[in-house]
Amino acid sequence: MSKNSVFIYSDAFQTYKFHDRHPFNQLRVKLTYDLLQTVGALHDSQIVAPRLATDEELALVHDIDYIEAVKKAGKGILSEEIAINYGLGTEDTPIFPNMHEASALLVGGTLTAVDYVLSGKAEHALSLGGGLHHGFRGKASGFCIYNDSSVAIKYMQEKYGVRVLYVDTDAHHGDGVQWTFYDDPNVCTFSIHETGRYLFPGTGNVNERGQGKGYGYSFNIPVDAFTEDESWLAAYKEALMEIADFFRPDVILTQNGVDAHYYDPLTHLCATMRIYREIPKLAHQIAHQYCNGRWIAVGGGGYDIWRVVPRAWALLWLEMTEQSDISGPLPKEWIARWQQHAPVSLPLEWDDPDDLYPPIPRKAEITEKNAQTVIKALQPIRSNKQRLNL
Ligand SMILES: [Zn+2]
Repeated sequence: MSKNSVFIYSDAFQTYKFHDRHPFNQLRVKLTYDLLQTVGALHDSQIVAPRLATDEELALVHDIDYIEAVKKAGKGILSEEIAINYGLGTEDTPIFPNMHEASALLVGGTLTAVDYVLSGKAEHALSLGGGLHHGFRGKASGFCIYNDSSVAIKYMQEKYGVRVLYVDTDAHHGDGVQWTFYDDPNVCTFSIHETGRYLFPGTGNVNERGQGKGYGYSFNIPVDAFTEDESWLAAYKEALMEIADFFRPDVILTQNGVDAHYYDPLTHLCATMRIYREIPKLAHQIAHQYCNGRWIAVGGGGYDIWRVVPRAWALLWLEMTEQSDISGPLPKEWIARWQQHAPVSLPLEWDDPDDLYPPIPRKAEITEKNAQTVIKALQPIRSNKQRLNL
């Protein structure tokens, strides 16, 4: 490794907290951090504190009146009627004290990661506090207030003039980022997610391909409910390799929601820890093949914070830092430290057992359907290649 990777972290990520019963829980970042430190895979020299995003940076994407509303909401001085127009104070995205500062810190974490990588101080950077892909220009949505990835992409364009490939493997469609850059041919977005037929936010259809000059730079693979590792990975690998070769990005930004796991309480996919070993492997390969190593990774969804998120996110860092040969039992000290706080039994191993769940009856049908979706998603790239005789 010629250069190092950095891990953006602060206990202050915990301040992004709606309330005790809300599924979005940043304790998962601390659990991951502690797991990595316990196995000796994260060193003090690799840890960098996040900065706060400035209002000017947030305004690269967000409306000024929305930013002002978030500030007021966090101080408890925004009326309910006005709040609701901004998506604030809903069941999904309730108001909490100092929500502006907490949200600006998550954005600042992603911007810190960007500056490390694009200034050449680090080759790769991980900010697990970020990945809030549902945030819109003037509206909070789906647990997301400010959209750190959208802000980071605009920031990269303005400050560094780079073309960005955004890859979103969260079980929910990366709608906020897609719509922000829908007409921009210098940003390519790729989201693979559970079909929006029954799942929030409902978008992410294979036919959403961009508009105007941005037509052909937005890719979506909506997989069927109950999709398993093999079919998910086949779709991810085939699509991402072709998209990267088509777009040839300067930098890759990956959103690493880990809510496609079988245990996740909010979604209906049947992935196991296996995909969380494979997802970062291909992202890493593409970073080196096309981007001179430039890879920024952020977190995202993940609502089984005990059994899924710490292992999956730790595997992302282990791949990034070329320590992915770790397997077998999880450290006993880590389990002992956290089991007393967990409502479920913590896993004992890095990988899931083969019999994690009973066989899925419609497996063949689901696999075939997903394969057809991949063909549809990649059709513009392939027909263009054919036309050019490549
Ligand atoms: Zn999600």
